Amino acid sequence: MPYDLMEEKVMTTTATCESCGMPIETGRYCEHCTDESGALQSFEERFARMAAWQARRDPAAPQQDIERQVLDYMATMPAWRDHPRVQAH
Ligand SMILES: [Zn+2]
Repeated sequence: MPYDLMEEKVMTTTATCESCGMPIETGRYCEHCTDESGALQSFEERFARMAAWQARRDPAAPQQDIERQVLDYMATMPAWRDHPRVQAH
């Protein structure tokens, strides 16, 4: 397949979760970022989960650094970049 056709295919079939950036098949958010009804989880819930995940990746990091890294990351996500907690940081 010619390269430019492949690229077009990738662009039309790949989406990323607007909350965490994970590649998803369709929709705006992945299954980890939504509740049972498909609605986006609250900022507090996502923040706590991302902080826990980050702490597992980097167990030696102080909690303050973990939280700053999570806020830095959330500032790049369409679902959270306008949130007051993200903006304040
Ligand atoms: Zn997600």
